[in-house]
This record gives sequence, structure tokens and C-alpha cells, in this order.
Amino acid sequence: MTEAERSHTAVIGAGPAGLTAAYQLAARGAAVTVFEADDIVGGISRTVVRDGWRFDIGGHRFFTKVAEVEALWNEILPADDFLLRPRMSRIYYQGKLYDYPLRALNALGNLGPREAALAIGSYLRARIRPPRDQDANYESWLVARFGWRLYRTFFKTYTEKLWGIPVSEMPADWAAQRVKNLSLSAAIVNAVLPKRNQKNITSLIEEFRYPKLGPGMMWEEAARKVEKMGGEVIMNSAVTTIHRADGRAVAVTVTTRPGQHQRVPADHVISSMPMSALLRSIDPPPPADVLAAADDLRYRDYLTVALIVPQEFSFPDNWIYIHDPGVRVGRIQNYGSWSPYLVKEGRTCLGLEFFVFEGDDMWTKPDSELVALATAELEALGLVRPGMVETGYVVRVPKAYPTYDQYYRRNVDVMRRWLEENAPNVYPVGRNGMHRYNNADHSMLTAMRTVENILDGTGHDVWEVNVEQEYHEEKSATGAKARATGGTGRDAPIIPRR
Ligand SMILES: Cc1cc2nc3c(=O)[nH]c(=O)nc-3n(C[C@H](O)[C@H](O)[C@H](O)COP(=O)(O)OP(=O)(O)OC[C@H]3O[C@@H](n4cnc5c(N)ncnc54)[C@H](O)[C@@H]3O)c2cc1C
Repeated sequence: MTEAERSHTAVIGAGPAGLTAAYQLAARGAAVTVFEADDIVGGISRTVVRDGWRFDIGGHRFFTKVAEVEALWNEILPADDFLLRPRMSRIYYQGKLYDYPLRALNALGNLGPREAALAIGSYLRARIRPPRDQDANYESWLVARFGWRLYRTFFKTYTEKLWGIPVSEMPADWAAQRVKNLSLSAAIVNAVLPKRNQKNITSLIEEFRYPKLGPGMMWEEAARKVEKMGGEVIMNSAVTTIHRADGRAVAVTVTTRPGQHQRVPADHVISSMPMSALLRSIDPPPPADVLAAADDLRYRDYLTVALIVPQEFSFPDNWIYIHDPGVRVGRIQNYGSWSPYLVKEGRTCLGLEFFVFEGDDMWTKPDSELVALATAELEALGLVRPGMVETGYVVRVPKAYPTYDQYYRRNVDVMRRWLEENAPNVYPVGRNGMHRYNNADHSMLTAMRTVENILDGTGHDVWEVNVEQEYHEEKSATGAKARATGGTGRDAPIIPRR
């Protein structure tokens, strides 16, 4: 008997990672049950529907360099359901829209002659006398490349809104990845020779694929196909306990409604639930130091206020970064630019994104107050005339960003080692599942590799699935300098714990 014929796998979560695992297992004839705590599939990649309007949490570009992931997307969703969308996003600052990535002529033109002269002066000063600690401090790293004035205009505010701490407290070592190849001199070269160098800039993907009803369309179809192939996807069912005996997981307990529990035997458990919650749900529990590591993981949370406005206030960008320090909104999505199928005739829907901490003053505001605040900010920015917002909806997303702080790597290692030794048939996958800043494609790839490990006994190290590795491999192939990251997922800043 093969492992596929012999075993039953419980999958925790019906997001991209969980459904990819279930799809791969079911396609190979293995018994699989997915338990999803929510009443909707897709996880962070779901499409939220309210009164017929569809919202995407953050805007999910379907872009990958992993051929297997691309092939699976094509297998799940018919070609007709995919749109090819142009990517456009600009920076909004003091009533002007700046190209992103920055282009020198556009930026200097928007600033006007006086501010442009000051910016160039400040840039030259920073070039002649760069901040001494630029290798250690992100603010200094940016100032060394752009000068103080451009740094304050184009980097400081948004970064602080996103991560919730001053840039001056952030280390520099991740920065070379996210904004690599960007400096004022590189920007000038780009402005003069527009197409030169652009392929080398990681943040540039000029077209991307997008399911016409939003990213959730992919996962709704994946769930249907899993069930068609004989797997089960059970909604409104949170896994609350993973039972362990003789050094392995043997069953999960699922809570369907408060007080209603069901114990389900399992030979393997693939988990995309947050790693901290996974360790907390194991019974008998891990020792205190492992639980302390679990409790020590940190997250950045997110909420979006989707406002319905007349079509005249639409813009061609998929999203706009809001750099004005006077408003709390960090980014504005225009869902109509993502797909005309997300919005209704004559109107568009703008998603005002706020980066928050679960439980903070924004998170706990009633929806009506958030809609009023978002409306006031949209009007203050001049992106809509007063009184033109028709209605609004609030979507809160806890744990949207697993945070990398100075302790996260050690914490993850402690949990990982304990699982490997005490519950080797429990497999963390995905983004929060592995506490890694993965996009959907790499979340999926961790699930694919895990299924191969289960069914074929391959010894893939799933923790090595690493987006930056590919960029580096590609760059090495073109002769550019490579930098090893090794197993940390997509590069993200280390956010020091205060
Ligand atoms: C603002 C933003 C923008 C993004 N943009 C992009 C993009 O453009 N392109 C891209 O590829 N990726 C993007 N991503 C990343 C993408 O959303 C994630 O990589 C992906 O959704 C992670 O998939 P996952 O299955 O690992 O986890 P999730 O999507 O978090 O799914 C986990 C699922 O597990 C369920 N669950 C949790 N606990 C339990 C439990 N105890 N029992 C049962 N179920 C449980 C949850 O309800 C959820 O449905 C973005 C993310 C954010 C926050």
C-alpha cells in the first residue's frame, strides 16, 4: 500500500497553502480533510463580498517565478477567468502624484523648482558626507542614497505607517533587497533611458494576472475541485487541539460552534494556522520554553475601509501610497483598476488601508466611525469631493504581517525543533503557518513540498523555500552580485521590539 492509500491528512486552514496541500493530496488519491475556522475560503487571499461589492485584502497580484505554482493556478482556474492587468501605483504627497518606482524627472518636476533645488542640495550634501551609521540604520541608509529631503518626502511616512515604528529605529540590512538599485543617480539614469535597468528592480512587475472576481475566485474553485476529487473542505470549523501520543500527532479536535467538539483521527497534520496558535493547541503541551517562544511571536495587523464613490473619482492606479503625514491612511486601492468585475456600473470602490495593531484605537473603533474617518481623509486628500461617498464597509485582518523582530528567528527555531522531535507528522506551511513574510506563491510552494515529503518520502527542507533565493539565482545568472539569505522567506525589515 502506498502512503496515499494508507493515510488520512488533516489540513488546518483553507487559504492558499492549505488548499494547495489538499489539492495535491486529493489529486493523488490520498484522503484529506480541510478544516477552516472561517465561513469563507482563501484566508488573507480571499475575496470579501458585501452587498455585491468585492474587495481584495491588499490587492493580490498573481505573479510568480515558480513554474509549478503558475501551472497549478492554470490547472485550477480556467484561462477565461484570468485577466492580464497593467500595474500602476504612484505616491501621493501634498496633492501631487509621483511615479513609483521614483523617476527623477517626474519627482523633481512635481516638487517644483525651489523644492527640487533644495532636494538636490540635500542629496549632494548626503553624498559628500553620508551618515556614518548607514550600514546599521535604515534611516541613514536611505538618507545616504537620497538626501534628507527626499527621504522625508518619499520614504519616512509610509514606512512608519506600515510598520508602526520610527524608521530611525529600523536596521538597514534588509533594505538593499526591497529598494535595491534605487538611488537618485539610478533614478536619473532611468528617467533619461526609461527602459534601461528596469528589469533589475525587484518591485517592478509591469503586468500581472488577476482572477476576474478577485483572488478568492482561485481558492473557491480550488475548494470545489478538492471536493470533486474526494477530499473534504469543512467550513466554520476551528482546529482547537492537536492530540499527541507516542511522539506523533494522532488526531485533531475541531470546534464547530462553542461547545461542539469533534475528535478526528489523522496520520498527518498540515497546518497553516499561525505558528504561535499551533504550538498552543498541542496536547499534551510542549514545555514552557517552547510555549514562551510561541507567545513571543509578533504581528502587524491591517484593516481596510472600502468606500463606494462615483466613477469620476476613479484613477488608473491599482493603488496609491499615501505619504502625507497628516492622514492615517497608508494606501488606497482602486478595486475598479484591479478588475471591472469587482465594482458596479457608474461607481468604483476605493479601499483605504490602515496598518494597525489588533486592539489599538483604530482596530476597536466602531465601523461607522472608521467609515467616517476614512471618508474625511479621502476628502482631505482631495481625492473625492465632499459628500460624494455613497457608503462604506470595514474589513479587519488580524495577523496580516508576521513581524520579524530581533527574537523571531530564535523563537521559530525553538518551535520548529520541538515539532521535529516531538510531533514530526505536524507540518507548518504557508505565511503565518511558518511565520514568514511569504507571498501566496511561496506559501503554496511550502505546501507542495510538504505533500511530496508525506507521499513520496522526499526530504525537502520546506524552510528553505525562499523567494529571495530565486531572485539571487536569477541575478547570479546575469552576472550581478548575489547575496545569500537562506531560509528567512521574503526579505522584510527587522522591527526592533521596544
Ligand atoms: C496586504 C497584503 C497584500 C498581499 N499581496 C499579495 C500579492 O499581491 N501577491 C501574493 O501572492 N501574495 C500577497 N499577499 C500574501 C498572501 O495573502 C499570503 O501569502 C497568503 O494568503 C498566505 O496563505 P496561507 O494559506 O499561508 O495563509 P492564510 O491566507 O492566512 O490562510 C490561513 C487560513 O487558516 C485559517 N485558520 C487559522 N487558524 C485556524 C484554525 N485553528 N482552524 C482552522 N482554520 C484556521 C484562517 O481562517 C485562514 O483561512 C498579501 C498579503 C497582505 C497582508
